[in-house]
Amino acid sequence: MAQLNEDQRIFVDQLRKMVAEKVAPRAAEIDRKGEFPWDLKEVFQEMGLLGLSVPEEYGGCYQEHLDLCLAVEEIARACVSSSLIVQVQSLGWEPILIGGSDDQKKKYGPQVASGEKLTAFGLTESGAGSDSAAMSTKAEKTGDKYIINGSKCFISNGPIANVISLFAMTDNSKGVHGISGFIVETDTPGFSVAKWESKVGIKGSPTGELVFEDMEVPAENLIGEEGKGFIYAMKTLDTSRPVIAAQAVGVAQGALDQAVKYAKERVQFGRPISKFQGLNWMMAEMAAKIEAARALTYQAAKMVHTKDPGTTYMSACCKLIASDVAMQVATDALQIAGGYGYMTEFPFERMMRDAKITQIYEGTNQIQKLVISRELLK
Ligand SMILES: Cc1cc2nc3c(=O)[nH]c(=O)nc-3n(C[C@H](O)[C@H](O)[C@H](O)COP(=O)(O)OP(=O)(O)OC[C@H]3O[C@@H](n4cnc5c(N)ncnc54)[C@H](O)[C@@H]3O)c2cc1C
Repeated sequence: MAQLNEDQRIFVDQLRKMVAEKVAPRAAEIDRKGEFPWDLKEVFQEMGLLGLSVPEEYGGCYQEHLDLCLAVEEIARACVSSSLIVQVQSLGWEPILIGGSDDQKKKYGPQVASGEKLTAFGLTESGAGSDSAAMSTKAEKTGDKYIINGSKCFISNGPIANVISLFAMTDNSKGVHGISGFIVETDTPGFSVAKWESKVGIKGSPTGELVFEDMEVPAENLIGEEGKGFIYAMKTLDTSRPVIAAQAVGVAQGALDQAVKYAKERVQFGRPISKFQGLNWMMAEMAAKIEAARALTYQAAKMVHTKDPGTTYMSACCKLIASDVAMQVATDALQIAGGYGYMTEFPFERMMRDAKITQIYEGTNQIQKLVISRELLK
């Protein structure tokens, strides 16, 4: 908590209370049923959490980027699926904030912040994952409209979103400089959800394949300038990677909390297993790794806020480190709980499954290394 100001400490206290009362009791059920927790979306929007990255002038309550990270961390400590409600709302909005016009921000900001509209971020395609610039979705301008054809896959909240920040090729010949961003309302004819994915973890977060068939989007929904879409998408990821890192820190902390509790209660060889040095050292290492990941994550979040030129580098660093820590800690936490840890009636296996995604989305950890080394070697 040393890096937090007084307001942020109070905010974290409020978050912890809300998570203990509303989120933690629902986490296992959300995972088991694989359903989006609409009730928790209401709770989060009442607390203003869906507007944490929307500036006040556009209807939100942005103060510092770290606030969003704190919210996602605290929710992920109990339920990673639920933390995605807050995280994806920001992810879908960021391209509009980064590249959009004042009119677009005035129109969509209040709808995003209030939770009236859910957002999504549509970049990935079946043939364009890590190499997202290889996308084949096309947007062709005719008069005052763009006609969009193509598909996107693995889109978080895609099946339930009202507004999508969508990236498509407006000029194939220009490669990465031919990609543009669009604000797409999902009630537009030509939009459809082709598939709801079945996943290893984050089962309460809907992930979908989206199809666009001759979908007409008004030209005024172009984000910023034609050909700048890829820049807006990459800048969005710079802001969002610390949020994923915070999610990773949250799930790691949650798994450690559970492991400590379990170790104090479980008796073998006539004493609690917490008395065994082999486990003490394991828990100490888990705790130290989490503290390091958290410090790095908060540092990156502060750099996003101050628009520090080293943000791309630090955002990739924190996502790489925090997500690896999450996977290691969640796996060790399950180990501490032994056979019971492997049973679905305990939260360890859910946390381990949920931790895994933080190493994959918003750029795999191999891609984070590519980003870090590219920045290093500039
Ligand atoms: C649950 C979930 C939710 C998601 N949500 C969204 C979303 O909301 N919006 C969105 O646009 N996308 C989303 N994604 C997509 C996600 O960002 C991609 O899955 C990810 O970027 C990896 O792309 P890929 O799956 O095609 O893997 P691939 O690119 O095919 O990679 C396969 C393997 O090759 C490695 N690899 C690839 N290139 C290199 C390289 N140059 N050097 C070294 N190794 C390399 C990768 O690290 C990986 O291990 C989501 C994915 C999942 C699973």
